[in-house]
Amino acid sequence: MLLKYKYKLKPHKTQGVIISNWLSMARQQYNYRLAQRLNWFEATRTPVNACPLNVSVVPVERIYQNIPEFRIQTRDGRKKDSNGNSITRKGDKHPNIINGYVAWETVQLANLAQTKKLFGEYKSMHSQVLQDVIQRVQTTMDNYTLPDQNGKTSGRPKFKGRHYYNSFSYPQLSNTHIVKNANGRFCVNLPKIGLVPFVYNRPIPEGFKVKTGTVIREVDGCYISFTIEDKAVPREVVEIQPTEENSKGIDLGLLHYAVTSDGEFIEVPKFFRHSEHRLSQLQARLANRQKHSKPWNILKRKIAKLHQLIARQRLDWQFKLAYHLFSDCQVIFLEDLQIASLVRRCKAKLGDNGQFLPNGQSSKSGLNKSLQDAAFGQFVQILEYVAWKLGKRIIKVDPKGTSQYCWECLNKVSKSLSERWHSCPKCGQELDRDYNSALLIQKIGLLSTQEEDITSVKTAVRAYLAEESRALP
Ligand SMILES: [Zn+2]
Repeated sequence: MLLKYKYKLKPHKTQGVIISNWLSMARQQYNYRLAQRLNWFEATRTPVNACPLNVSVVPVERIYQNIPEFRIQTRDGRKKDSNGNSITRKGDKHPNIINGYVAWETVQLANLAQTKKLFGEYKSMHSQVLQDVIQRVQTTMDNYTLPDQNGKTSGRPKFKGRHYYNSFSYPQLSNTHIVKNANGRFCVNLPKIGLVPFVYNRPIPEGFKVKTGTVIREVDGCYISFTIEDKAVPREVVEIQPTEENSKGIDLGLLHYAVTSDGEFIEVPKFFRHSEHRLSQLQARLANRQKHSKPWNILKRKIAKLHQLIARQRLDWQFKLAYHLFSDCQVIFLEDLQIASLVRRCKAKLGDNGQFLPNGQSSKSGLNKSLQDAAFGQFVQILEYVAWKLGKRIIKVDPKGTSQYCWECLNKVSKSLSERWHSCPKCGQELDRDYNSALLIQKIGLLSTQEEDITSVKTAVRAYLAEESRALP
């Protein structure tokens, strides 16, 4: 099990200066390496399958003569076969060339020596931190060029401005890096920075090992986020057989944040509205100031702090809600929402002469904002984490049709978004539409765990109709 634990750093003044210098150097390096990749990518772009897109198409010996064809393997387990046995051993020669091409990552990593020669300040930076920058460029380019399982790639990577590059990572930290200094204060021993005091407000759980550490700059100071791992903790979820008594269905929505099948309506708390109001006040004042003037900077900082406050309030509230929802049940059924496709711009509508016609985007923009405010994606993640922690279970259900069918008799009752009441002409059910959805989600979830051919509302309706026609004659 991999977890992330975040602590507030309390660096001394000189350490703070080093951190901000490193961030600026890492950012410059990132932008330079990204430009290298993008320039090459745009110049040598080839149709799909003509060549592997993440390596150079130019013959190696022509441009990368200074890179040795083999480099000595210094670390164990770099290359493994399908059984997980190491192919290369310590001291073995390790080829830099794959299918006749040099991988970009290798080229740029080898080129770091040149960077240190040309720009002496990079010698003060820890080498693994610098290598991690190259790793980040590689990840960004992979996301851009290699399609994921749905065949989608991310957009063109952006260069990072001063306020958009806020972290650097140590890829190899361990528990021994957390020590006490002479005054008995907890410190993290960051190589080349020194003993940085930090607020050790919760201990790293027994059995977990620190793997990596990332220093993050936020508006109110620096933080360190440790990745910790315990291989002994199983990743699989517990198999609890859901029944009507130990489970509940949950419908997420904007009018009520969540409605459970027990009939509990959870509202969005008032302090969100309060902060939102304060934010719009500050932003109106910011618009009247001269850009980059002293009062403008002060206001800008206030706004950033308020954004941070809102994000923290939301996170805290969502955690409390998740624990509350699990307090009286073992299994929770949830709609399998595709958040990214909910928050999307409407398709442009074109007239006969190619002019833009109204397409309902302005009203959708308001909805998109509310959807992003609600942060359902984050909430689902938190629910999954809490379920794992408590040894309980989350089951996702196909959301199609959950608002259009009656939970009791599976009769179709069509409603538009503005109709808030569900009344079924067939069986006479009268209840709130979200409550109906929550009950239906629980019903479908229970059916899907009991019978194999039911996975969604539609299949449930079909099975129900087939049964009914069998019962008639
Ligand atoms: Zn009904």
